[in-house]
Amino acid sequence: MVSDERGRSDGARGRCVCGGVEFVVTGELRSVSNCHCDPCRRFTGHHMAATAAAPDNIDFQSETSLTWFRSAPEVEYGFCATCGASLFWRTSSRPDLISICAGSLNPPTGLTTTVALFMDEHGDYHQRDAVDEQVPGDRP
Ligand SMILES: [Zn+2]
Ligand SMILES: [Zn+2]
Repeated sequence: MVSDERGRSDGARGRCVCGGVEFVVTGELRSVSNCHCDPCRRFTGHHMAATAAAPDNIDFQSETSLTWFRSAPEVEYGFCATCGASLFWRTSSRPDLISICAGSLNPPTGLTTTVALFMDEHGDYHQRDAVDEQVPGDRP
């Protein structure tokens, strides 16, 4: 889930619903990717619309309820154990990147959605994303 289009962030703020997890992202934010893979669909209840940043660029004001769920040996989803908000995704194969659920950021984000991934696994109720690039699986 890598994109060349990037947004600038001078300190995008994000949080879960209850505020148990609050963070500020500095530096560059990737454009948003919609991931329709089966685990992302089940984790978010629809699809994961995620930007991404370098882990070192995420500064937590609060992470008391941040919990990581390992869905595969190399993959973890981050969520708030109190309010249940979907927040993050990370893989040990890309330690330089952490995906951030775009809806957790305070608007305006200035980000655009550029790609839909794993379209062969999207919910059968789902209308196609209004993006230029639709990929059946992940990027080759
Ligand atoms: Zn919460
Ligand atoms: Zn996914």
